[in-house]
Amino acid sequence: MTARPRASVRDFSAAIIDWHARHGRHDLPWQRRRTAYRVWVSEIMLQQTQVATVIPYYQRFMQRFPGVGALAAAPLDDVLHLWSGLGYYARARNLHRAALRIAAGHGGRFPRRFEAVADLPGIGRSTAGAILALSRGERFPILDGNVRRVLSRHFGVAGSVSDRAVLETLWALSDECTPAERVDVYTQAVMDLGATVCIRRNPSCMSCPVSATCAARQTGRQHELPSPKPARKRRRRQVFMLAAVRGDGDVLLERRPEKGVWGGLWCLPEFTTAAQAAYYARRMLQGAPARPVPLEPVEHAFTHFDLLITPLLAQCSGSASAPDPAQTLWYCAREPARLGLPAPIRLLLERLAGVTGRQG
Ligand code: SF4
Repeated sequence: MTARPRASVRDFSAAIIDWHARHGRHDLPWQRRRTAYRVWVSEIMLQQTQVATVIPYYQRFMQRFPGVGALAAAPLDDVLHLWSGLGYYARARNLHRAALRIAAGHGGRFPRRFEAVADLPGIGRSTAGAILALSRGERFPILDGNVRRVLSRHFGVAGSVSDRAVLETLWALSDECTPAERVDVYTQAVMDLGATVCIRRNPSCMSCPVSATCAARQTGRQHELPSPKPARKRRRRQVFMLAAVRGDGDVLLERRPEKGVWGGLWCLPEFTTAAQAAYYARRMLQGAPARPVPLEPVEHAFTHFDLLITPLLAQCSGSASAPDPAQTLWYCAREPARLGLPAPIRLLLERLAGVTGRQG
């Protein structure tokens, strides 16, 4: 870790606030009627996800769940349905759990105290700070990925954030930079700077309001800061999914366990070998063929591994019943139920309709 910076934090905050008035983002859907609930949902959706991707999801979500009460009253399947395709589904499950907790423990009103907000499922220190700063103008620092990048570069903080001392230095800097007034504007401004100017690759230092005092720019280390986390070796997993199709064209889906990849979403039944899939089909489904037919594989990239899915088509004669009605169902693409479906499964269902000649 390098020595702490010597740029004035007050000048830094003032310059960013000034820049934001002219160049910041002012018309995003969650910037209208900034309630804690609306900011909360936007902050969760924006984790690991670009603004342009989030906007349509956010608008649909707000239409269906305009407040905590509506979210708490909805079945989890409805929430996952609206989240389908956005990825990182633990975020949606935690939103729903947190809404239930707010309904039960906070009289249905979003809590006001920082500790109570940070204690909700899926909300850490930075998100709690952002919610309270943006919706209520309360002075709390934030340290999401964008802000970490701006502060590391501007104040020349090297070292991985997996190092506790580095993280504490950045939190202390964030706290120092957060002004006593106009906290909501500063918070939005520093997030916007990280998202639009001080971006990961090729930051636009020429148009940066704090370039004159930026340690990374002065030393030409924009691409070294923030120091990357130690790289994890990327894994590759192969699975087989049984694409069981009934006589009427409906496809067998299975709800995945809450924990793990695509937790709580609906998928084709998954197996580690093709033989296991064939055994399941013979045992559990009426009129299933002895050997399901392999279809073109689908590849999906997760953060730390790649998943290769080989679908195995089993066209069942007649109207096979669901093996376990609580955890499995026959999915009708023509009248789809409101369920959470991972993007690769949606793709497989579309392909399947083409292969079996059934259109959704
Ligand atoms: S000068 Fe460049 S590296 Fe420094 S904060 Fe601005 S955009 Fe980031």
